[in-house]
Amino acid sequence: MTSPTPLRVRFCPSPTGNPHVGLVRTALFNWAFARHHGGTMVFRIEDTDAARDSEESYQALLDAMRWLGLTWDEGPEKGGPHAPYRQSQRMDIYADVAERLLAAGHAYRCYCTADELEARREAARKAGRPSGYEGTCRALTKAQIAAHEAEGRPSIVRFRMPDEPITFTDLVRGELTFTPENVPDYGIVRANGAPLYTLVNPVDDALMEITHVLRGEDLLSSTPRQIALYRALAEIGVGGGTVPAFGHLPYVLGEGTKKLSKRDPQSSLNLYRDRGFLPSGLLNYLALLGWSLAEDRDVFSLEEMVAAFDISAVNANPARFDLKKCEAINATHIREHLSTEEFAEACRPWLRAPYAPWKPEAYDPEAFAKLAPLAQTRVTVLSDITDNVDFLFLDEPVADEQSWAKAMKPGAGDVLASARANLGAVEDWTADALKAAVLAAGEEHGLKLGKAQAPVRVAVTGRTVGLPLFESLETLGRRRTLSRIDAALARLSG
Ligand code: GLU
Ligand code: ZN
Repeated sequence: MTSPTPLRVRFCPSPTGNPHVGLVRTALFNWAFARHHGGTMVFRIEDTDAARDSEESYQALLDAMRWLGLTWDEGPEKGGPHAPYRQSQRMDIYADVAERLLAAGHAYRCYCTADELEARREAARKAGRPSGYEGTCRALTKAQIAAHEAEGRPSIVRFRMPDEPITFTDLVRGELTFTPENVPDYGIVRANGAPLYTLVNPVDDALMEITHVLRGEDLLSSTPRQIALYRALAEIGVGGGTVPAFGHLPYVLGEGTKKLSKRDPQSSLNLYRDRGFLPSGLLNYLALLGWSLAEDRDVFSLEEMVAAFDISAVNANPARFDLKKCEAINATHIREHLSTEEFAEACRPWLRAPYAPWKPEAYDPEAFAKLAPLAQTRVTVLSDITDNVDFLFLDEPVADEQSWAKAMKPGAGDVLASARANLGAVEDWTADALKAAVLAAGEEHGLKLGKAQAPVRVAVTGRTVGLPLFESLETLGRRRTLSRIDAALARLSG
């Protein structure tokens, strides 16, 4: 792609609530697009709604971007030629632009009260007309304005939409046209002087010389309004004068045909962090919500995504969020994209409180290191590690009664007793020797290895599933293995 000016994109969330996966998808697509084209990623905080924005959410956004590795070139902490990048610190700019739009006739004061607007909307609906603002205050005379002011009527600033249709070529959806009836004049400044999103977002895009806007389809209806505003800004000399190109990313669906909402627990980014998704695994999956590297390639690295990213290849159809697939992709990243050392390092948070149930002093890094390679090929998310290795560090195995009931059926005591005898006689405490001992115990009772080892596993680890058993026993050691089997035998005969 050749663009005359360097490409500039922006990620501009509002700091409300916790970051969610939809937001991350938007950040990712902007980032990949910028990186692919050697452009600039601007990170802007849209915090003009003091009632909803919070410092905590602001910090959470920064923290999320850092965790994900989605770097920005201009924005909070980095600064840049268009600083500040928090809209709450740019209020005088918006007030000035609003005045200039009024002076140039691109905007006007609207004195309609909420009740009047509602009554007109109602009447329009009954008459089957479009129910948007009808332009009541578009051409007030000086005398009418003076009368409203004398009455002390509050007024908002409204943007005057052009009377012609607005056409633009969406980077994802192709050419789109919006007719004037469908895009009425709209408010840009509240009666109390507070600028609205409808003003500040395009004003900053213009001032920050944004060339491409990639954002969710939910914002598509505001695009014709914003394009008209950019054109007005260009006329009054605000910003560099170019209208950015727009690409609207497809909706993300949750269960059924419902849109995934930010209130859905499944959409909270924190959930994925807590469960131990790798940033690369989660981002790989989120990339698939609208894009793909190649027909038969679901798993790829961020570098591969950056190298191949093409906004015109984004699919306009809604994408379904599939947690199982997200998990499977993450498991592949854990398996294939981490060295054993990186995996062990990445597991650390889940090997201590509050995730790990054992006493901190019971943790033995050497024992963990022995089993880490076996765990790496089996976990879906890093938090799975805790249950996989807790038998090593707890004084006693977890008491999972379902596992017990399943493995300790009648007859299990006999094979367990034989296994205890054979294991007790093993000289070299190695996985191979331990396997031979349990195999022989099974044979004594006409059982295959799988059946013979189940009661041993539950006696020692508490669970029916886990890491390969004999390596686990080797690592746990002779004394603890035998005493746990003795305890299980005592429970069976008691
Ligand atoms: N602050 C807006 C939001 O979070 C940004 C919308 C846009 O990308 O234009 O919805
Ligand atoms: Zn009005």
